[in-house]
Amino acid sequence: MSTGRPDRKSRTAAFWRRACTALAAAVFAVTAQLPVTSAQAGPAKLHVVATTSMIADAARQVGGEEVRVRELMGPGIDPHAYRQTRTDIAAMTRADLVLWHGLYLEAQLEEFMHKLAQRRSVVAVAESLPKDRLLRHDDYANQYDPHVWMDPQMWTGVVAAVRDALIAARPNARATFEANAARHIAEVEALAAYAADTLRSVPEQTRYLVTAHDAFNYFGRAYGFEVIGIQGISTESEAGLNRIAELVSLLVEKNVGAVFVESSVSDRNVRALIEGAAARGHKVSIGGELFSDAMGADGTYEGSYVGMLDHNVTTITHALGGTAPARGMNSRLSAGS
Ligand SMILES: [Zn+2]
Repeated sequence: MSTGRPDRKSRTAAFWRRACTALAAAVFAVTAQLPVTSAQAGPAKLHVVATTSMIADAARQVGGEEVRVRELMGPGIDPHAYRQTRTDIAAMTRADLVLWHGLYLEAQLEEFMHKLAQRRSVVAVAESLPKDRLLRHDDYANQYDPHVWMDPQMWTGVVAAVRDALIAARPNARATFEANAARHIAEVEALAAYAADTLRSVPEQTRYLVTAHDAFNYFGRAYGFEVIGIQGISTESEAGLNRIAELVSLLVEKNVGAVFVESSVSDRNVRALIEGAAARGHKVSIGGELFSDAMGADGTYEGSYVGMLDHNVTTITHALGGTAPARGMNSRLSAGS
């Protein structure tokens, strides 16, 4: 954050004058230690804005040193409900390339993105996936299920779309982008193979994945799980009491012992389900927290696409009676999961 332009930052300056002096000094000290500010980044980097953290991760993996990536939606942010802020708009209108998911995931950004696409490079990276590989959903007659990152094999198509968008924006770095994309796609394919092996250890009769919202259908299709989202495919619809009662019956009938909470969705409905089952004498526990529509905290293993999925695979496998290595697919990278 630059403080060098008092005319444009007068409101910020007023805020700091009111704020505690010690805090202001501490923040200034931290800012002053940063080696490079955005103003000094130089023209060498391609400035990319990505909506979700998963797309930002793909852009960093493929772009490497050539890019500077800013993500709009950090840990715990729900993309179905997210609205652009004034800062986001400024970043997107200045960026060399804007990457968004599409498939109606960022429902509140649709209109803005279509307008921006008339004057900037804007690419909806999931919309290039072959339509016959996309799932439809009962709740949305003319839409596809956007949660394609839940199947690593599908995600490799998105990584390829990110690669192509970066090449179009900076053709002279084609070789770098192609090499980085090939490396990352191989890593994601290794994740897909690991997930298949590990999830196969879950007994067939317990392969029910009950989660807060309907984000896991691609996961279910890839690995043979029946997926039940308490809320519909978007987090905007409220799960009705009838839906809860219906799901309680299903948990009791199928003897499902664990349901999952999600990092970017309220756990209220999941708890209602557990209480409903308890009232009918059936014990259901929380199988753990899954990352559905956003990755984990920056700087952690779960704050990467591979780490996020690896965490989900481990959590689901353990909760539903399978066996997984305690630290997942790549224990030397796993920090305290
Ligand atoms: Zn979702």
